[in-house]
Amino acid sequence: VKQQGRDGWHFFSSSLEEKVRKKLSITQGLRMAIEREELSIRFQPIVDANSNRIVAAELLLRWHPDEGEISPAVFIPIAEMTGMIVPIGAWVFAQACRAEAEWRQRWGENAPAYISVNVSARQLNDKNLLADIEKLVTRYNADPKRILLEITETSLMADIETNLRMLRGLANLGFRVAVDDFGTGYSSLAQLTRLPVNVLKIDRAFVDGIENQTESRAVVRAVIGLGRALGLKMVAEGVENQAQLLELRNFGCDYIQGYLFYRPLLEDQFIEVVERESSL
Ligand code: C2E
Ligand code: CA
Ligand code: CA
Ligand code: CA
Repeated sequence: VKQQGRDGWHFFSSSLEEKVRKKLSITQGLRMAIEREELSIRFQPIVDANSNRIVAAELLLRWHPDEGEISPAVFIPIAEMTGMIVPIGAWVFAQACRAEAEWRQRWGENAPAYISVNVSARQLNDKNLLADIEKLVTRYNADPKRILLEITETSLMADIETNLRMLRGLANLGFRVAVDDFGTGYSSLAQLTRLPVNVLKIDRAFVDGIENQTESRAVVRAVIGLGRALGLKMVAEGVENQAQLLELRNFGCDYIQGYLFYRPLLEDQFIEVVERESSL
């Protein structure tokens, strides 16, 4: 590496090297994660904004190799770049199917309406996705109508034609679709109405300031109005306090997800909470 003058460059170069090394070790670790049973799922309850009743759970992936826990914010982007998200995503999807069938067995009609699962664009680009998913649905006897696929707005809009085709295929199988992190990308109204979308999830970044920042308030209010006008269900993520909840309720937001109500839970805890809340 050329020395570019002085220490500044040196410093930059070695930290870059460190980053590359870390990425490599994460990549190698991820390859073994499924077999070594280092992956697990947390279930974060999503509640009705008015009744506070649990209406859904979002599956959130956790990875705990020997050295502790690595955040999905760190390993998911790497899994996406290396393609590892395809087998990992299939594993998560299998968990969603299993939980959906088990909960429906357990709770019948009173089971939470949806199980929400994150799907990255890289998975949508996989030619085998539909066939693989159909196999899992059959194997677990899951009901696709109760599974909500969350796809981020940014990745959705990056390759709208391909994604549109795949989403239509998934919608035909009965799956529901949510646009995740809504507001961080740039979908046009025209694009939004072309997609088989049922739910919009407003990103935490916007919810964060609604109690005291006029701009966030305006954006959130407008987005909720827009979504409802299109007949979509609106979810706000990252709701942490009562003031935010009150604003969101006033704006007509349907569902709430956030630490104010629940953190991501172990499955046993989730089951306990649902049974306590609804006296099932
Ligand atoms: P996301 O899909 O936007 O998920 C919501 C994130 O916000 C989760 O972080 C959740 O724990 C966190 N959260 C929920 N309520 C609150 C709150 O009130 N305050 C704060 N500060 N945070 C809250 P987590 O679990 O660390 O996941 C991070 C991201 O990793 C997710 O963001 C999602 O993009 C990705 N991810 C997680 N699991 C999967 C998965 O199975 N597949 C894929 N493709 N991505 C996943
Ligand atoms: Ca999500
Ligand atoms: Ca988010
Ligand atoms: Ca996200």
